[in-house]
Amino acid sequence: MPSAASVRGLMAELGVSEAALSGGGLAVRSPINGALIAEVRLHAKAECESAIEAADAAFRLWRMVPAPQRGELVRLFGEELRISKAAFGQLIAVETGKILQEGLGEVQEMIDICGFAAGLSRQLYGLTLPSERPGHRMMETWHPLGVVGIITAFNFPAAVWAWNAAIALVCGDTLVWKPSEKAPLCALACQALLERAAMQLEKIPPGISAVVLGGPELAEAFAADPRLPLVSATGSTRMGRALAPKIAQRFGRAILELGGNNGAIVTPSADLALAARAILFAAAGTAGQRCTSLRRLLLHASVYDDFVTRLKTAYAQIAIGNPLADGTLVGPLIGRAAFESMQESLCEARSDGATVTGGERLYEDLWPEAYYVRPAIAELPRQTALAARETFAPILYVMRYRELDTAISEHNAVAQGLASSIFTNDLREAELFMSARGSDCGIVNVNIGPSGAEIGGAFGGEKETGGGREAGSDAWKTYMRRATNTINFSQELPLAQGIRFDALR
Ligand code: NAD
Repeated sequence: MPSAASVRGLMAELGVSEAALSGGGLAVRSPINGALIAEVRLHAKAECESAIEAADAAFRLWRMVPAPQRGELVRLFGEELRISKAAFGQLIAVETGKILQEGLGEVQEMIDICGFAAGLSRQLYGLTLPSERPGHRMMETWHPLGVVGIITAFNFPAAVWAWNAAIALVCGDTLVWKPSEKAPLCALACQALLERAAMQLEKIPPGISAVVLGGPELAEAFAADPRLPLVSATGSTRMGRALAPKIAQRFGRAILELGGNNGAIVTPSADLALAARAILFAAAGTAGQRCTSLRRLLLHASVYDDFVTRLKTAYAQIAIGNPLADGTLVGPLIGRAAFESMQESLCEARSDGATVTGGERLYEDLWPEAYYVRPAIAELPRQTALAARETFAPILYVMRYRELDTAISEHNAVAQGLASSIFTNDLREAELFMSARGSDCGIVNVNIGPSGAEIGGAFGGEKETGGGREAGSDAWKTYMRRATNTINFSQELPLAQGIRFDALR
């Protein structure tokens, strides 16, 4: 069971001093047993200012370091993560309550993005273009952008920062990070490991990365600060709605990775055994606390009864408990507010006519300050306003459909557009779901669940999910500024579009 002493040990292994863990104004509790595991210092707005100033000064030096050398820092950071994977995976589990397997998976994802970014550092290429003017050449060049402000949610307390940080660093940007106030320890550990990597190289400017701990007021400071040309913000749509106008007001760039309300369709031709396994992980895994967790399941009427029976059988077998123990599949919710919002949604589901299985609190006597729940299945007669909003907890709304076109319309009839899946063995159905009149999400999967993305693909979603993309593909372009160059190597001065302006000839 987590305790302040065990956390001190983990943090020491990760390079964070004991002094950083006590006497501060932010109490950190483990959702596993509610134990107080640290008291970290909150940063005042003036300290946030200084961190941005230092990152801005560091940027002026870092942008001149050749990109492959910047990639070497990120590669070494990946090496530090490999060395510390066991301790860091455990810290993630202790601080967020996700199972150890998923904590280790999160560190692996960080290692993977470091590999991706180190390779990318030799591929920040621009186009060359044919010019319409004789003796001219056109090309695009990509330059470092500046200081990137990163704001993160509690549920991926390290990987989401790493997705941004690894790519931003190879692009020549520097970083300031405001993590979730529910997961400051992982942020301190990331910073310490990055500093360890930096110490192995010469001439890494001080201040290329900083962590500032605090609440929404620091996120707002990022949004308003013109020294941050890019703010990458991950969290609820509510947070995005508060910050996006402030960033837009000063014409800053934003990567918004906001709430999801992810759906899956199971068609008559689906492999039901495979679909049940995938849906179990997607809906109940991480205690329903992934942005990509499955929340809405549309089942064809012909497979409805069979599939719901399979799901209920699978749900009954989920091992719920201490996420550090072998064999546990579902750990606790992050805290009381998450539990209460789950119970409110289940109440509303019942009044919407749902049959609810599960959802009750577990282990209250053993750990009164921890919030374990049995993942819930709510069979709804139709998609109600409740199902159209994100409740960040393990509730799966199950609904029946008859025509695939109607199911796709229902699937898309929510404000969020992050991740989606279809389970089918019919090529036409799969292609339709991935086509222009199919799913309107940023992630569209076939025969796997909507959660558990891998590094390499662009990650993000449409509509109220915010439209940002990170972690793969050409997402790096958002972290750089593009210059279009036209070079005249002739002795003539023809104008584009054939315009004549011959005054000095
Ligand atoms: P949250 O919005 O409460 O907090 C996220 C971050 O934003 C924190 O650092 C917090 O301090 C800050 N914040 C919160 N409200 C703010 C406000 N009004 N103004 C300025 N800053 C504010 O989210 P959470 O509870 O930590 O995480 C869960 C949410 O995040 C879910 O909605 C989930 O879908 C979303 N999420 C999205 C992604 C994605 O990639 N799309 C990934 C992870 C989580």
